[in-house]
Amino acid sequence: MLIPEAVRSAMARASTNLRRARKKGATVADPVSADVYRLVLASGPCVYCGEPPEHVDHIRPLSRDGWEHESNLVPACEHCNLSKREKLLSEWTPDKVHHGVMNSVKVAIEYARQTGAELVMK
Ligand SMILES: [Zn+2]
Repeated sequence: MLIPEAVRSAMARASTNLRRARKKGATVADPVSADVYRLVLASGPCVYCGEPPEHVDHIRPLSRDGWEHESNLVPACEHCNLSKREKLLSEWTPDKVHHGVMNSVKVAIEYARQTGAELVMK
């Protein structure tokens, strides 16, 4: 998958912060606040298909070493969230993952982390 320039530069800026947040999130036992969930839900359409958001998706599922932090949360429609469930991005519907990478820096970073996609970003 080719990651567009705008996403790549945003990824470069965000990745250090997200790495820090991920470490921090992994050590925080409490769930993120309802306010964070509301903000994520209001932040845009479903990142995986563009439909109106209904759920907050953990990009990396909690059951798969995901972290409970805003950096791992994106708005998703019910259909996508229920379809994705416990799957990693690399295990899920490629079209939806592609849409997510193009529309969310958070998804792009996690996808690159899982697949080594940075190798094709040059
Ligand atoms: Zn969707």
